[in-house]
Amino acid sequence: MIKVKKGTPLIDQHDKNYMYNGKFGGNFIPETLKKPVEDLTILFEKLRKDKQFLKQRDHYFKNYVGTPTSFVKLKNLTNYLGGAQIWAKVVSEANGGAHKIYNATVHALICKKAGKKFIVGDTGAGYAGKMLSMAAKKFGLKCKIFMGAKDIERQRPNCEAIKNNGAEIVPVYTGSKTLVDAVSECMRYWVSNCDTTHMCVGSTVGPNIFIKICAWSTAQISRELIIQIKKKFGEIPKKIKLINCVGGGSSALGFWNSFIDYDKNQVELIGVEAGGPKNSKLHAAPLSTNAKVGILHGAAQYVIQDKEGQISNTESISAGLDYPGISPIHCFLKDIKRAKYTSATDEEALEAHQLVTNFEKISPSLEPSHAFAEAIKIAPKLNKETIIVVNSCGDAKKDRDILKKRLGKKI
Ligand SMILES: *Cc1c(COP(=O)(O)O)cnc(C)c1O
Repeated sequence: MIKVKKGTPLIDQHDKNYMYNGKFGGNFIPETLKKPVEDLTILFEKLRKDKQFLKQRDHYFKNYVGTPTSFVKLKNLTNYLGGAQIWAKVVSEANGGAHKIYNATVHALICKKAGKKFIVGDTGAGYAGKMLSMAAKKFGLKCKIFMGAKDIERQRPNCEAIKNNGAEIVPVYTGSKTLVDAVSECMRYWVSNCDTTHMCVGSTVGPNIFIKICAWSTAQISRELIIQIKKKFGEIPKKIKLINCVGGGSSALGFWNSFIDYDKNQVELIGVEAGGPKNSKLHAAPLSTNAKVGILHGAAQYVIQDKEGQISNTESISAGLDYPGISPIHCFLKDIKRAKYTSATDEEALEAHQLVTNFEKISPSLEPSHAFAEAIKIAPKLNKETIIVVNSCGDAKKDRDILKKRLGKKI
């Protein structure tokens, strides 16, 4: 069986065709996209080795994103559940309230390095768009966000935020009028304007270079975490489980990156997908439901599809996880059994959100609440030497309306 290549960053575990484990990823793109993708690849491969660029990245991560984020023990929750110790990496402290700002900031920096003044991106629920518009404003870039017309209807507060940051929303009326079509339309625009315009993809999906840039950006999370863990425990504990929700997979890959070389019996990686409503067949969990391999947004991956290979509808209470595909790197980690994937239902996530907020000072959004649901499930069965760390990658403020509707709760 193919294993992780020790000492090689997760993003570089592919072959010369940009495929992970020979099956996932690649660049399945139209001829017209080849040149801009190639140019960006050359630029990024140069920048990631450029000391000046790394210094700049670190500067903005510290002073703009607000890193390092804290690593805290959830003492009350631990005591209540009994069993394993539950800790949280509070990534929601980052500017904008979630990890998407890491990728957006790096793309804005790349855009400037490329000498471009315009930046475009796609968004589904609006958070990737909101974060990109924030970063664009910070770095003085003109920003367009492509968004399905149907999503614009459903996600008004985020649309307002995008506009308030001075960005333009381009409504997409083709296809299902949602994220899938917004991505296609954004790429089309980029092809025609790539001399002046840079494109950002909001998660670790799409043609290989976008997966790389995004995971390279979120890797900051585990760079901090490994230092914080060693400081607290003196070493990496004998049994530690890193639990993260997975939508496109960027927060999980960033959370796991520095731990990939450790033995899986010591550092276990657990990804939690969106299981959807309890009594529904709909979900957004390609890995834990053994979906078939297909091509989505330029890359081969496990993707939720019907018998004819058409992308199926997905459903989840958390907008951030509601995506039919998944990063090719996660497909690779699943195949080689380095990471384990499971799912939590809407109801379990809601319950976990309540439990965590009742006991602790943090208020995880519905996405990380899926990860907390898994922690809550397994902690009581484990001994107190076992350490569970959950990436609390988003703040619940953004879920205010849905939490109020489902829990009658004001936050
Ligand atoms: C977008 C989002 C996600 C899902 O995206 P990943 O790329 O899987 O991390 C998860 N949590 C939050 C808070 C988000 O905003």
